[in-house]
Amino acid sequence: MKNFNKTIAFSSILIGSSSCLMADNKPAIEKPNLIVIMADDLGYADVGFNGCKDIPTPNIDSIAKNGIRFTNGYVSYAVCGPSRAGFMTGRYQQRFGFERNPQYRPDDPNMGLPKTEMTLADSLGKVGYNSGIIGKWHLGAHPSNHPLKRGFNHFFGHLGGGHQYFPELLTIKDSYNVRKDREESDSYRTWILNDHQPEKTTKYLTDEFSDAAIRFVEKNKDKPFFLYLAYNAPHGPLQATEKYLKRFPDIKDKKRRTYAAMVSAVDDGVGLLLNKLKELKLEDNTIIFFLSDNGGPEKKNASDNGPLRDGKGSIYEGGWRVPFAMQWTKKIKPGVYDYPVNSLDIFGTISALSGSPTKNPLDGVNLIPYITGEIKKAPHKTVNLRKFDAKQHAIRLGNYKLVTRENGEEKELYDLKDDIGEKNNIAEKYPEKVKEIDAIRVQWDSELIEPTFLGLTHTKRWMKKKKKKPKK
Ligand code: CA
Repeated sequence: MKNFNKTIAFSSILIGSSSCLMADNKPAIEKPNLIVIMADDLGYADVGFNGCKDIPTPNIDSIAKNGIRFTNGYVSYAVCGPSRAGFMTGRYQQRFGFERNPQYRPDDPNMGLPKTEMTLADSLGKVGYNSGIIGKWHLGAHPSNHPLKRGFNHFFGHLGGGHQYFPELLTIKDSYNVRKDREESDSYRTWILNDHQPEKTTKYLTDEFSDAAIRFVEKNKDKPFFLYLAYNAPHGPLQATEKYLKRFPDIKDKKRRTYAAMVSAVDDGVGLLLNKLKELKLEDNTIIFFLSDNGGPEKKNASDNGPLRDGKGSIYEGGWRVPFAMQWTKKIKPGVYDYPVNSLDIFGTISALSGSPTKNPLDGVNLIPYITGEIKKAPHKTVNLRKFDAKQHAIRLGNYKLVTRENGEEKELYDLKDDIGEKNNIAEKYPEKVKEIDAIRVQWDSELIEPTFLGLTHTKRWMKKKKKKPKK
């Protein structure tokens, strides 16, 4: 821990911090625009700012260059749906039972984000923001969970967990009318919803989403806005157009080449958006976050998590430590931040700045005083993960990480300072540390509830098997 502190780079300071304090020393309310660009299944090492060599991402990198590169940025789950539920509520989603990737079920109002939770868009709407989501929703396909019912003013995207990218493959007009036996695959082929209207799009989907993001910013330039640009790329299916593919003649592996092209398309979109903000003179007062919703599934989409162990779905670092950067040029000087931060902190940050209300207690915090160095300690005592179905937990305390299986019966301990790849289990060497972190795990676990809906893994085959072998 001691050594770790020395490596922290507090190279950023708050610019003009005195001017934003009111007489009673409480921070003044301000309403910067918020843009969250979330890539889907992007590997930790697949952006230039994390050392990627074969896929140039100059526009994404510029966010880290003009702002903060978080070396230890986490999401709250290792797959899409739960991770997004955490981000959208600022809370560990295991607190409200969103612990599985939801099935695409337009007929089931409980398959998605519980109505007891306030979304980031709900919260910001109360203080005058207009909120738009462009891209992947994945927080419930029932009409009662449509983004416009969950605080957003605009939606241009798809309700499910992934999508075909070529317009000619989008053959199902009505997002709510998918075949019962093929809900998942049908959900990838629906037309794009423009608010509630099915729209027959004409471009490569990533380009469609970039254009829609630009339109949203142009339309909302005169009032505070929250744009959630949730690209489904580079999540499978691996599909790219020649325009992007031809940028990578030197990548011989076909999968990696297509993946690279998909990431390149996202980077182009980020560039268009950043340019639009400059053109409209909105750059200074817009907080922009860039992150992935979970680690790269390396075998599936040829992503690369670099030195991190495993990938998407895993409790090891490759599952939930992600590329993570933010910029706010008006207030934050460029730098690197090494203490663990969490996607849940995005809600905590913007809510604290804008004075937007919260309903249930947030797990996320306002990151600004931490990255400016105003507060020297770590934003979080721990970052936590539980995978209920797999009976696995991971708790990171300082640089120590406890990984448990069988609900705590089997324990592994890693020191991430010297062992970022989690290769050397030191549980036997440090039994007291194991005990200390395990007590935190048990306490945190007691605050969580069981999953409230079945997930993607609960297929018809699974149901049949379960019927044959009833629980004792
Ligand atoms: Ca994902």
